[in-house]
Amino acid sequence: MSELVDVALPVPLRRTFTYRAPPDEPVPALGSRVAVPFHGRKLAGFVVAHRDEPPEGVTRIATVAGLLEPEPVFPQELLRFLLEAARYYLHPIGEVLRAAAPALPAGAFRRLRERGFLAPGEALPGRRVGTRCELFVRVSGSFEAERLGPRQREILALVASRDEVPLAELRERVGAGARGIVRRLEARGLVTTDEREVHIDPFFRTPVAPDTPPELTPAQRHAVSAIVGGGGDAFLLHGVTGSGKTEVYLHVIAAARDRGQGALLLVPEIALTPQLVSRFRARFGDAIAVLHSGLSERERDDHWRALRRGDLRLAVGARSALFAPVPDLGVLVVDEEHDPSFKQEEGFRYHARDLALLRAYRAGAICILGSATPSVESFHRAAAGKLRLLSLPERPTAQALPAVETLDLRRQRTSGATHPLLTEPLRRAIRDCLDAGEQAILFLNRRGYAPSVRCGDCGKLVECPACSVALTEHRAQGRLRCHYCDFQQAVPERCPSCGSTRVDAMGIGTEQLEQALAELYAPKVVARLDRDTATGKSAEAVLDRLRRREVDLLVGTQMVTKGHDLPGVTLVGVLLADQSLAFPDFRAGERTFQLLAQVAGRAGRGERPGRVIFQTFQPEHPAIRAAAAHDYEAFYAAEREERRELCYPPFAHMVAVRIDAGDEARGRAVAEELATLAKAHPAVREGVLLVQGPAPAPLARLRGRYRFRFLVRGPRALVRQVARRVVARIDEGVQPARATVDVDPVSML
Ligand code: ADP
Ligand code: ZN
Ligand code: ZN
Repeated sequence: MSELVDVALPVPLRRTFTYRAPPDEPVPALGSRVAVPFHGRKLAGFVVAHRDEPPEGVTRIATVAGLLEPEPVFPQELLRFLLEAARYYLHPIGEVLRAAAPALPAGAFRRLRERGFLAPGEALPGRRVGTRCELFVRVSGSFEAERLGPRQREILALVASRDEVPLAELRERVGAGARGIVRRLEARGLVTTDEREVHIDPFFRTPVAPDTPPELTPAQRHAVSAIVGGGGDAFLLHGVTGSGKTEVYLHVIAAARDRGQGALLLVPEIALTPQLVSRFRARFGDAIAVLHSGLSERERDDHWRALRRGDLRLAVGARSALFAPVPDLGVLVVDEEHDPSFKQEEGFRYHARDLALLRAYRAGAICILGSATPSVESFHRAAAGKLRLLSLPERPTAQALPAVETLDLRRQRTSGATHPLLTEPLRRAIRDCLDAGEQAILFLNRRGYAPSVRCGDCGKLVECPACSVALTEHRAQGRLRCHYCDFQQAVPERCPSCGSTRVDAMGIGTEQLEQALAELYAPKVVARLDRDTATGKSAEAVLDRLRRREVDLLVGTQMVTKGHDLPGVTLVGVLLADQSLAFPDFRAGERTFQLLAQVAGRAGRGERPGRVIFQTFQPEHPAIRAAAAHDYEAFYAAEREERRELCYPPFAHMVAVRIDAGDEARGRAVAEELATLAKAHPAVREGVLLVQGPAPAPLARLRGRYRFRFLVRGPRALVRQVARRVVARIDEGVQPARATVDVDPVSML
C-alpha cells in the first residue's frame, strides 16, 4: 500500500517532490490537487505518482496538508498525456499542469483553515474563482396598486416588459443599488429571482438553425469510412482548399458522438473561423465548448469543468484547447495542421499538432490532421506509413481550382502615378472584377503604412532603440512602431543620425495599399484585415461585411489567407509573392508555398470561376511555381530533397538553444559555454550530430536584450542526450542570462 505521493509543484524545476499522504485520509488519487508545505512556503500542487519507497537519498519527507478539491482535477488520460508532453519538451511539469488546470474553486481552502494549515483568510498562491452565476428577475404579481419609489417602479416596468431580465442589465439601468432593490421587491412578493449559469459567449450570440448533412462525394465517403473504420489510427487528410474536409470532420465526429465518445477539434485561430463554429452548432447543437482567447478565465474554467463533468463532450478551440479534459476522447482533429500558430512560442513551447498525435495515440482515439497544404513533417510521416494518407482531390461545388497567373515583376514598367507593386495588369484585373460586381482579395504580408523609414542623405533606417529592427510607419496614427516590442515614437522630422530632413517612407504596407486602392477604385469600398484593424471579434465583423457584399476589396496580411469561404470573391492578387522567401528560416519555402496556395484557394468558391495573380521577382522559384500550379506533390518532392541534403527536419531531429541577456558579452559567454557543452558529445566529433553556432540570432536584439542561439541537429536519441545535458547545466543557473531549449523549434528568429 503506497503512502507516498509525488507532487508536481508550480516551480520552474524539472522534477517532482515526494510527500507522505495525510494520515487520516485515503491516499490522494492521481491528478488530485493538494496543498503542501514547501521550503517554508505553502503551495498547491498535483499528485502525479504513488510510490512505496522514498526516492534514493531522501530521508526527511513532509506530509500533504490536505486535498483542495474532492475529485481529481485531471482525468487519468489527460494527466498521463501532460506528464509525457512535459518530458518530451523538457519543461517543468508543475508549470505545465498549473497552466492546464482550471482555477481553484471557491471554498477550496476551508478545510485547510479548519486544520490550521492555513491561517484564517490565508490562501495559496494561484488563480481562484467563485462559481459564476447570474441572477434573473421575473415579475410575480401585479404591482400597479403598490406604493413604490421611482427606481423600484422603473425596475418593475423593465422586468414586466419581458419574461425575465438579468440583474446585470438592471444594474446598467439604475446603478449598483439594483441588487438591494430587487431584494426588497422579492421580500414583498413582487418579483422572483432565479440564479443560473449564463452563456454570453460571442460565438453563441445568434441562434443557428440545424442543418442537414449534404450527400457526401465519393472521395469524402471513402475518407469517412476509412477513418471511422480505422480503429484509432492517425490520418492525414490532404484535400485541396474547399474540398470538403470540414464535412469529413463533422461526419467522423458525429460517429464518435453516436458511440458516446467525446471529440476535440483544433483550429489555428478561432477568431478567424466563426463560420466553422456555426457549422458545428448547426450539426451538433449548442452543447459545444468553444475555447478561445476572447473568453474570460472564468468562462474558460466553466467550459473546462463542464467537459470534466461530462456535461459537454465536444470542444473546439485553438492550440491550448489540446489540454481540454474532453471525456472519453474518441476523435481529435487538427484543422489546417500546417499552421505555425500551433506552436507555442513562449514558456511551455509545445507543438499542438505533434502533441495531438501523441494524445490521440495514448487515448486510443482517432487523430485527423487536415490541410490543403500539409506540413513537410506530416506528409513525410504519411510517406513513411506513420499516418494514413487520404485525399480529397476536387471541390464538391461547381468550381475547379482557380487559374493562377504569375507576373514577373522584373518585367513591369512602373508608372509614376501608382506604387510599383500596383502593376498595370493587376489594376486591370481588379477593375474587371469590380466592374463585374464581384469581390477581390489583395494579400500583402506587411502591416502598417510603410515597413521602414529611411534617411535620403545618410541612408540609415530609423530603428527601434530596443530591438535590431526597423520601425514601421503607421501613418494614420502619425507614429513609428516596433512590431516586436511595441515601442512607439512620433515620425521624426529629422534623421536621428545626421539631422537631414529627407526622411522618407520606404516600401508599402497594408495601410498604404488600402489607401491607394480606395483612391483608385472609389466609390468601391475597401476594407483591411490585419492585426491593426482586426482583433478578436472585429475580424469576424470584417468577414461578415465581405460576405454581405458591403465590401468590394479586401486588403490584408496572412489573416486573409485563412480558410474563409467567401463565395463572392473571384480575384485574389498577391502583391509580392516572394516576400516570405527572404526569411532566414529553413521553412521559408514551405511557408511561402502554404501562404500562396491557401490565399489562391479563396478565389472562385462560389458560382463564378476564380482568377489569381502572383506578382513576384522570382517566378522560377519552386515554391512559387508549385503554388501557381496547385501542385502540392511537386512542392513536396523538391522540398524533401533539399531538407534531406541539408539535414533539416523531418530528416533530422532538432533543438534550438536560445540565450538572451541584457549584457551582450554575458549572453555570448553563456552561449559559448552551452554550445561547448553540446559539442563535447562524441557524436559531434564523429559528424553524426551537428551543432550550428553559437551566433547572434537573426533578431539579434529584442526588448533591449542580446540574443544568441545554436541549433543541434541529428538522430533523435543523440539530440535528446545533448538537450538534456544543456538543460541540466541551465538548471544549475546561468544568471543574469536566460537560456531555453526549444524542442522541434518552429521560429528561427
Ligand atoms: P474545406 O474544409 O476542405 O475547406 P468545406 O468542408 O468547408 O471544405 O467545404 C467547402 C464548401 O463545399 C462548403 O461550402 C461546404 O458546405 C460545401 N460542401 C462540402 N461537402 C459537400 C458535399 N458533399 N456536397 C455539397 N457541398 C459540399
Ligand atoms: Zn541621415
Ligand atoms: Zn522593439
